[in-house]
Amino acid sequence: MIEIPNEIVTPLLAWYQTEKRDLPWRKTKEPYPVWLSEIMLQQTRVEAVKPYYKRFLDACPDLQALADLPEERLYKLWEGLGYYSRARNLQKAAKTIMSDFCGIFPSDYATLKKLPGIGDYTAGAIASIAFGERVPAVDGNVLRVLARLSASEDDIALPETKAAFREALLPLVPVEAGDFNQSLIELGATVCLPNGEPKCAACPLAPFCRAHAENRAYDFPKRSPKKPRRIEKRTVLLIEDGGRTALSKRPDKGLLAGLYELPNTEGHLDEAALLAFIRSLGFEPLRWQRLEDAKHIFTHVEWQMIAYAVRISPEFDERAGSDRCFLVENEMLRRNYAIPSAFSAYTKYLSV
Ligand code: SF4
Repeated sequence: MIEIPNEIVTPLLAWYQTEKRDLPWRKTKEPYPVWLSEIMLQQTRVEAVKPYYKRFLDACPDLQALADLPEERLYKLWEGLGYYSRARNLQKAAKTIMSDFCGIFPSDYATLKKLPGIGDYTAGAIASIAFGERVPAVDGNVLRVLARLSASEDDIALPETKAAFREALLPLVPVEAGDFNQSLIELGATVCLPNGEPKCAACPLAPFCRAHAENRAYDFPKRSPKKPRRIEKRTVLLIEDGGRTALSKRPDKGLLAGLYELPNTEGHLDEAALLAFIRSLGFEPLRWQRLEDAKHIFTHVEWQMIAYAVRISPEFDERAGSDRCFLVENEMLRRNYAIPSAFSAYTKYLSV
């Protein structure tokens, strides 16, 4: 049974008032920007999110604008943030709110959790910050703080551990629910740091912390080792005719679903297989040149890529390409198409 002492609430709130970082999304309690920031902050650093948050709000200031945004524009606004399923779910949820809730943002944890892309943590964050509902918001930072506070031996990678911490925190959430949740998140992000570097001397919770009392902060949280990532070898092609580049669209499901990409295929192709692959895409190469190898790490898979710059003739027929692969003017590509950062080692070679 996990026990979180009630006494943490007052010092935590007081600490937050004086020590919290001045972040753009903390200037509002409107649900739309609060939600947007929470989705952007998933798996992304605060500093990286700041410019995206502003740019997105400028382009898309409310739910209606987000619901109406063309898909390509959505991806372009999200380009570089990665995890594009977050953007897709954001728009799906905006459409649901417009159609099923008359455009009014749901205000309670249980309803929020039913929206696409909104899980336990995000529902708790929006409900508490924007609507003052007394529910916890337990993300990775908060889990770490709570595991150290209670010197818990439970594996934080397990959903049941997260649920147990949420349960333990629920009765502690004060009327200042939004500030309370943000104070725990902030403490985890700036003081009770990961990788065994907690700054206990600066922590308002030190007097209540079991791990600190036992001089074992470095031992927590406990986490079972992650499964090693699957390695996938791929061959990537930068097919150009001097002014246009070939793109293909990924399937609507799975990794990088629905996004445009440089044509690529599984395996490290030899020259004969390379020629066959280029032709299968509907192109006839004039020449090709090997580019440097690169790798990209996704959550569950690592791509180990070899690549070729392939030149085709500019006189090539307009119908060049195939159903899954087509040529796009380079300027239009840069302006309108979001290419996943997995390909950034090669998109840098695009001629303008
Ligand atoms: Fe984390 Fe140290 Fe504070 Fe405990 S005292 S919550 S280990 S920073």
